[in-house]
Amino acid sequence: SDLEEIFNIISNVQDGNLEISQENISKIYNLYADYPEARNSLNIKLHIQCLVELISNIEYASTKDILLSELRELLVHSNLAAFWLDIPDYIILDQQIWSIASESRRIGILVSQISNQQDLIYQDNILKIADILKESAEENITELISIFKDKEFIKSHNLILKYLPDIEQITILRAKLKNDVNQNAEIISQIAEVLSKSPSDKLQILLSKLPDSVKKWDEILEFLPPEEKILIMLSKLKKESQIQNQTIINKIGYLINTTSNEERIILIYLLPEGVRYKEEILKSFHFLLPEDQVKLVWDFIANNSLFIWQYLSRQAKILCIYRLMKETENTSTFLNEFKDIQKITPENDNLVRCVLKILWAKEHPERGNEVFQQVHNLFIQYVIKNATNSTELLNLDPLLPYCQPTEVKVKYCEGRLWTMTDNQAAEVTALVSRACCPRARQRPCDLFEPSKPRVNSNYGLYGARLYAECSQDWEKWSLLELFKVAGIVPSLSDLKRPEDYLTKLSGWINRINEIRSRLKCSVCGDIMPHNIEYAKFLAKFRVTVFSCKHGKGHDYNIYLNECWGCGEIIDSRESKYQSSEDKYYLCIHCGSGTQNSDSYTQGDICPKCGTLGMELSQYNNRYRKCCSCNHSIKLPDEKKITGIKCPQCRAGRMILTVNKKNEKVRICRSSSCGYSISAK
Ligand SMILES: [Zn+2]
Ligand SMILES: [Zn+2]
Ligand SMILES: [Zn+2]
Ligand SMILES: [Zn+2]
Ligand SMILES: [Zn+2]
Ligand SMILES: [Zn+2]
Repeated sequence: SDLEEIFNIISNVQDGNLEISQENISKIYNLYADYPEARNSLNIKLHIQCLVELISNIEYASTKDILLSELRELLVHSNLAAFWLDIPDYIILDQQIWSIASESRRIGILVSQISNQQDLIYQDNILKIADILKESAEENITELISIFKDKEFIKSHNLILKYLPDIEQITILRAKLKNDVNQNAEIISQIAEVLSKSPSDKLQILLSKLPDSVKKWDEILEFLPPEEKILIMLSKLKKESQIQNQTIINKIGYLINTTSNEERIILIYLLPEGVRYKEEILKSFHFLLPEDQVKLVWDFIANNSLFIWQYLSRQAKILCIYRLMKETENTSTFLNEFKDIQKITPENDNLVRCVLKILWAKEHPERGNEVFQQVHNLFIQYVIKNATNSTELLNLDPLLPYCQPTEVKVKYCEGRLWTMTDNQAAEVTALVSRACCPRARQRPCDLFEPSKPRVNSNYGLYGARLYAECSQDWEKWSLLELFKVAGIVPSLSDLKRPEDYLTKLSGWINRINEIRSRLKCSVCGDIMPHNIEYAKFLAKFRVTVFSCKHGKGHDYNIYLNECWGCGEIIDSRESKYQSSEDKYYLCIHCGSGTQNSDSYTQGDICPKCGTLGMELSQYNNRYRKCCSCNHSIKLPDEKKITGIKCPQCRAGRMILTVNKKNEKVRICRSSSCGYSISAK
């Protein structure tokens, strides 16, 4: 029969024994339509081919539906992409198959149906494509949009555009911009939206695709880097419209005010002078480095036009006076002008007032000492007020000369005149070339000399400041130069030499700052409650005990004191060992314990680790070193060394140490004596 013959052919095809032409398959499948239950014995590929053939040729809708639903079943269950290749588009388009077809197949068909924007189904198909993209997973988008990568008329539709890469969106949007400004508003918003969603590292590339005419729009301006933003804003300034210009200047002022400090100075220099010295911009000047401020306003100061004064920071104001004193002969015009602006905006900063008073004293040499006393009192008031009211470190820049050696860890120079003995000091009249640094165990420190570049030496320190060096740039001036130019010689009842004034002031400020930083709890960093008397310029700092207000686990009963031996701060967080006599915390720097002790000598116990008998240096008997932790101390002045006097020479002190046999011994510190006894 027909059916048997068909089965023979089909089973041969299925077994691969027979190749058969498409034409013959069509004939067979047409016959086969009458026996639906027999189709199930076919393999899937043939079954699908058979159904495609049948569907293509059948005209009755109801039969077709049955066949389509059979095809749908097969496709859903087989779940293999290859089978879909055999199915032509017109079958896919049927609702039953369409709903299970892949996204790319559906988009491919929709794209193939339209050739331009005028097509009747253009809008419909775009909507369908957009729907598919909307439903699609993020990772498939790139592949899907590549299907219409050459079709500008699809990509540029607003519904599709947003699925494209940022850079392509920007290019398309830019192409859409028209000459008519009114129409562009929406496109500009779209561009702004693309920019706002773009990651910051891509933003620059996107912006580079935009012409200035687009960047001028406020919405886009937002995204530009500050420099470009300023240039575009400046290009919007017009001669005629004052009101509009004011809005732009306000914006420039706001931008400069909110930008970083490094950028700020660059931006300010981008501005033409007519804009740069507008109030909105001047308001940001005090953020700049003091030197930069002075340079920006110098032409005004030099011409005694002082409207800019109130916008400068304290340091810049002081530097202005330095520069004025260095570069200008006639300072009285400045002072007169200053008197006038004082009536409107009085200068309230006490340090600036000090410097102005000194400038005034230059014109009134007979009142120099009177001015010095006023200035001194203002300093003291300023320091005490700030030390009491603020937890910040005191900053007296640029009034005090800085300590220059990097080995010394204080801010302001405390160098003292180098003198061999106290007797000689009284005889010193000529300028000495050397100072000693009380912050570096009295090491010698060569004086700063601006004309001679320093040759590095590995012995000694360099850079101490005892005398004015007016040949330096005004940026580097300090009160030293200011006093010199104004002819002021510091004089106070308990001040031995005028050279000591600034170094003592520096020492006082450094010390207050050191105490302030030691007042911080080592656990939480908060300043511990205290009521230190700061009022004693030139006086020693008194013993005090502090505890953090946060209680348990924080710093508790921290003891701070100035060492009677070396003057450094003793801090019980560093000095953990106490003398046996009166529980005095051993100084970590010089080893001092109980003052006037006749049993303990500095270094008998390592103040850092508590090991007995630090070793005496072979080269310099002012130094002792711990053999267990290597900590080294420098003993205080000879007359402050405590302990048992040597019974042999009656000069040296008997220091506790450990000999080569590892026995504790006391030996005379005097190298010429060397007397030793057992220390058991
Ligand atoms: Zn120094
Ligand atoms: Zn704390
Ligand atoms: Zn020290
Ligand atoms: Zn000490
Ligand atoms: Zn030690
Ligand atoms: Zn001796």
